[in-house]
Amino acid sequence: MDMQTSFLDRLFESGLLIDTGVDGLYGRSGQFEDVITAFERLIDTFGGADGAEAMRFPPGMNRALFEKSGYMKSFPQLAGTVHSFCGSELDHMSLLQCMEVGDDWTKDQKATDIVLTPAACYPLYPTVAKRGNLPKTGGLFDLQSYCFRHEPSKDPARQQLFRMREYVCMGKEQHVTDFRQRWMDRGVEMMKQVGLDVTIDVANDPFFGRAGKMMVNNQRDQNLKFELLIPITSAANPTACMSFNYHQDSFGLKWGLNLEDGSVAHTACVGFGLERIALALFHHHGLDVKAWPASVRKTLWG
Ligand code: ATP
Ligand code: ZN
Ligand code: MG
Repeated sequence: MDMQTSFLDRLFESGLLIDTGVDGLYGRSGQFEDVITAFERLIDTFGGADGAEAMRFPPGMNRALFEKSGYMKSFPQLAGTVHSFCGSELDHMSLLQCMEVGDDWTKDQKATDIVLTPAACYPLYPTVAKRGNLPKTGGLFDLQSYCFRHEPSKDPARQQLFRMREYVCMGKEQHVTDFRQRWMDRGVEMMKQVGLDVTIDVANDPFFGRAGKMMVNNQRDQNLKFELLIPITSAANPTACMSFNYHQDSFGLKWGLNLEDGSVAHTACVGFGLERIALALFHHHGLDVKAWPASVRKTLWG
């Protein structure tokens, strides 16, 4: 038994996170949200002059497009689908009967046209592809969405419903890799301004199964994914608070994203884990925002 009160327990006790009875599903206090709002303003000051087109999608996406994305090939263990009751009055009666006796009432639920969004950029690619060729300047988009991943955990930094702020860039290889490098530099600078020590390292996604091993190796060998890491729950295993992904032309090919000259677009995305950044701030500077260093408060609230 761990005799120390865990960080999660302290977050519950302080009211910053609100227990719902499900690991990784938390309410957030006004104070917690205020930190996220302030940090997003900081993101805006770094990225605002780039002229990204802002779009906000709800936390559910078109199931047909989700199927086309190939998510179930790579991460079936993380996906969440929305199912609903679609039956008759008779079916309703047996549903209630099932619930009454504690049987599994969910087995007759039918899949709807909606699945939970796994990453903020997923609904973007088909949306942009529908417009036709990209303009000469390529594409730059500013997104934020709640995302779902079925990975219940006692680690407060691993939630099942959390927000991801993203910038997505589409263009030629050099253009999008420059974009990614610029955000790595900005990420380090932003975290410095809020008093957080970071490291950047190559990373990989948790591709499922034996076939996934090859994809992990490919992703690492080609430096397709980097993470900005900050210690939250463990000093030895710092937490990824930002990720920087270069997709080469794979999303361009999959979704039919073409540049003005008709060539296939390369894409890259950078993601901020907003809850993780807030938790890193609370972990490092303490649970009482009023006691945070003046320089950090000034960066966040002016
Ligand atoms: P990890 O390696 O910790 O599982 P990830 O590689 O799965 O992270 P991405 O898929 O790159 O993360 O998602 C973009 C960002 O979203 C991450 O850098 C992180 O800050 C945040 N994020 C990812 N998963 C979670 C989660 N379960 N809870 C909270 N934030 C998350
Ligand atoms: Zn993305
Ligand atoms: Mg993950």
